[in-house]
Order: sequence, then structure tokens, then C-alpha cells
Amino acid sequence: SAIQLQHWIPHLVEPFVQRIEKNQQHLRFEISPNLPSLISDPDILGRIVAELLNNACKYTPPGEEIAIALDADDAIVRLQVTNTGIEIPERELTHIFEKFYRVPSSDPWKHGGTGLGLALVEKSSQLLGGQIHATSQGGQTCFTLELQRHWPKTGALEGDRVAASDSP
Ligand code: ATP
Repeated sequence: SAIQLQHWIPHLVEPFVQRIEKNQQHLRFEISPNLPSLISDPDILGRIVAELLNNACKYTPPGEEIAIALDADDAIVRLQVTNTGIEIPERELTHIFEKFYRVPSSDPWKHGGTGLGLALVEKSSQLLGGQIHATSQGGQTCFTLELQRHWPKTGALEGDRVAASDSP
């Protein structure tokens, strides 16, 4: 369905606001004005954003910042979740999307986890015809999700569901 990103993204962040305050982290939005609506699956996209925010809440030290940025051009919608105060070493970055992979050094609070969150995020992004990647430098870590604005053609997701439920 058509998602009005401008309003929907802050709405997705709402359930995390209290936790972010409690953790003494700062929250910042960088949402471009006049964003186009996006045809996508809101359940899947919602889960991607929630998992990225969940990680940001878990791994950002107190006093540091979680930023959510959203912009678009003719072809692509770009969503970025950035957190300051923590870096993932270069050699670990290539592995974080693997199932059960955890970076020992980035969990000083011993939150624990199964290392499945980002594997799910990557698969889900691909399901939406998009891409996710992570960068980490200058004292911050950034997850970028890029979705094609004109994918899928209207109705394709619904069509997939019908096809899936038809198969034995
Ligand atoms: P769970 O499956 O419960 O989410 P997890 O957080 O360990 O557990 P992933 O979400 O897959 O698993 O993340 C993999 C690893 O990547 C984490 O263990 C953590 O070390 C690192 N990581 C993920 N997000 C961030 C982040 N925002 N900042 C720093 N490190 C991160």
C-alpha cells in the first residue's frame, strides 16, 4: 500500500521514545520535506525500522545520539538510522548481517542477543526489493536502507501473497 513516510516514520519511532529517554540517549529526526509516498509492505518495512531502532537503543551509550534520516530522489527512498558513540570495527562490518553473528566489543552492557536481528533486516530489505548496508567511522555507526520508489508495481506484493497461499 501507499505509505506516507513523513508521518509514518515518526509514528514508528513513538514506542521507542520513552526507552531512549530512559537510556539518556538523544533522538534526532532529519526528514526531508515533501517526501513522496512509497508503495511497499508496511508490516515488513515496520519490522525493519523497529529492529534498527532496537539495536540503536541497545548499543548507543548514554549521552550519545540516535538520528533517523529520511530523504528521496526520483528513484530511491533512503532511510538512515545512525548512532554516535560506538563504532563497529571494519573487519566485523562484513559479518554483522550473518545469522548468529555478534560483535563482542560493541555490547559492553552485556545486553545479550541472538545475532538474528540484522539477518532478518537484510532478508526483509531484499523482500522489498531494497538494500541495506552499514558503515562505521568517525565515532558513529550508520545503517542505510534504500528502497526503489517504483518497486514493486502496484499490486505485486498482494499478488505474491495470493500466489504463495495458492501453492500446496
Ligand atoms: P538480536 O538478534 O536479539 O537483535 P543482536 O543485537 O546481537 O541480537 P543483530 O541485531 O543481528 O543481533 O546485530 C548483530 C551485531 O551487530 C550485534 O551483536 C552488535 O554487536 C552489532 N550492532 C548491531 N547494531 C548496532 C548498532 N546500532 N551499533 C553498534 N553495533 C551494532
